[in-house]
Amino acid sequence: MERIVSAKPREEDVVLDRGLRPKQLVDFVGQEKVKDNLNIAMAAAQGRGEALDHILLYGPPGLGKTTLAYIIAAEMGVSIKITSGPAIERPGDLAAIITNLNKGDVLFIDEVHRLGRVVEEVLYPVMEEFGLDIVIGKGAGARSLRLNLPRFTLVGATTRFAMLSPPLRDRFGAVYRLDFYDQDAIKVIVARSARLLSLEAEEEGLEEIAKRSRGTPRVANRLLKRVRDYAEVMAQGVITEEVALEALGRLEIDSIGLDEVDHKILRTIVEKFNGGPVGLDTIAAAISEEADTIMDVYEPYLLQLSFLERTPRGRVATRFAYEHLGLQYTKGQPEQPGLW
Ligand code: ADP
Repeated sequence: MERIVSAKPREEDVVLDRGLRPKQLVDFVGQEKVKDNLNIAMAAAQGRGEALDHILLYGPPGLGKTTLAYIIAAEMGVSIKITSGPAIERPGDLAAIITNLNKGDVLFIDEVHRLGRVVEEVLYPVMEEFGLDIVIGKGAGARSLRLNLPRFTLVGATTRFAMLSPPLRDRFGAVYRLDFYDQDAIKVIVARSARLLSLEAEEEGLEEIAKRSRGTPRVANRLLKRVRDYAEVMAQGVITEEVALEALGRLEIDSIGLDEVDHKILRTIVEKFNGGPVGLDTIAAAISEEADTIMDVYEPYLLQLSFLERTPRGRVATRFAYEHLGLQYTKGQPEQPGLW
């Protein structure tokens, strides 16, 4: 089942994203620290007439990494090429892309942690010295040739900072972490999107959407769209609080944005494994989900809420998780008070 609150892009998002994506840094809501640092870096590079340093953006999906890459290119007045780690299978694929870049251009590599080793090694001198080493010929007659490339900016994005190899990590001049957005920022994003989509919406209606958006702009926009559909059919298109609650209720998303799968994860830990610690693979097997998906998509928000803790021995459900599920928290208390 595809989740409505999943932060991963879905087909329906593509068209929506294009229209709602902020084009300039001033329209990019939240992430103030990242914006401040980026502004300074861009102004400095422009002042020197140089390309911007390579930038690594990391954080959970749907928080604006791709959006920022587009904004960087727009603000620097350069072109952007978009690709992803898994799409660059061989060094030749990489060569084909980077030999087409002009001075200062932005190359955006999404899921940069998924680059293959061989490609990664070709990328090192490219990032460092803008030199592309290519091998011509085969066997004993093979020789290596270095192509000099124009200075460009690599913007890498990843949801898994820890999976990036240290040599690759070191070659980024700046590393920015995107965090989940707070309620106020998400509210601004929902209101902005409603305006861009010319929706008629009451403040309270938008607030209900924001509350369930998991601090993630992509989820916020998707929920807004679902509520809009419901409002059009059932309420003459006006997003009131009642309409929002009704529409969101139908999507089976709870008051803080958790859906059936989040509940399954938490309940599994609490009920089957006595609150944990329990290994990720065990949880994955118990609910028939991929461990990778749990880690990338589901877990970050549960960690953010402090519903889960990662310990060396596995995941542990916290008191907050028990309380949210309406269960009594028994962990950490003496089983037989008399013993203490
Ligand atoms: P990521 O690359 O991190 O998965 P995206 O950049 O694709 O995320 O963002 C998903 C969508 O969320 C975008 O299309 C955009 O409409 C919206 N969005 C992301 N960040 C912001 C922001 N700071 N302000 C407004 N909208 C945003």
